[in-house]
Amino acid sequence: MVRKDNVECVYGVVRWSGGELDFDAAYRVRVRGLDGVAFRLLGWEPRWEPNTALMIDEDGQEYEQETGESEWVPNVGGRVVAVMVGDDRRHLVDPDDLIPLDRRDYCGECGQVGCTHDGYDRSEDD
Ligand SMILES: [Zn+2]
Repeated sequence: MVRKDNVECVYGVVRWSGGELDFDAAYRVRVRGLDGVAFRLLGWEPRWEPNTALMIDEDGQEYEQETGESEWVPNVGGRVVAVMVGDDRRHLVDPDDLIPLDRRDYCGECGQVGCTHDGYDRSEDD
């Protein structure tokens, strides 16, 4: 759980590690096309995938067979589940459309970019 007063954008770009977004990082982002509001990232869009088991046929050849059970797995490299700050509506967004925000750039209460009514200290200019 990231406390609001600890939230800072420490990356100049959304960091990819081995093709995965770093969802543990405490950054907030803008989403291209959904301007004016900060988003936090929950994770990859889940995908419903059938479980398979490795089987061996009469000739000793291995093959995969569906077990009849399925589970939700993260669709790594697909779309990202993002939630507006101050809201709980989930959006599916393309990772290429994510733009990291500095903590000073958005409001921690309503999530609006440019709003400063959350009381966060924005006095130190750089
Ligand atoms: Zn606000």
